[in-house]
Amino acid sequence: MITPAIVRRNTPHRYRMEAQKCAACGKVFFPPRLVCTCGSRKFKAYALPSEGKVITHTVIRTAPRGFGDEAPYCMGIVELKDGSRVLCQIADCEPHRLKVGLQVTIEFRKIQEAGESGVIAYGYKAVPER
Ligand SMILES: [Zn+2]
Repeated sequence: MITPAIVRRNTPHRYRMEAQKCAACGKVFFPPRLVCTCGSRKFKAYALPSEGKVITHTVIRTAPRGFGDEAPYCMGIVELKDGSRVLCQIADCEPHRLKVGLQVTIEFRKIQEAGESGVIAYGYKAVPER
């Protein structure tokens, strides 16, 4: 049986914004991968910074199944303070406020209501700084 604790433990990149840093060359990967581009398989856990800025964005008006209630909603690529980039929803943001350079903070939020499986999905979203 897969419990929420097992899911949290096995998906640290999703729940704690945990990336991996290659022990050989220092390259950072998010989400984690098994082999670095340098060939090394040794990685250390690396906590991504939570502040960054939007570098590109779009507005989803025709949402996929399960997200229809949220449309229209904003998605974007956020460049974090260390230069890492993550693709995520930009929450609490009206589409007309969305712009390149918008300062955001990454927060742990609910992604999707419980579906047929009964599991509520959580993950990270970017929220404009107040
Ligand atoms: Zn490497």
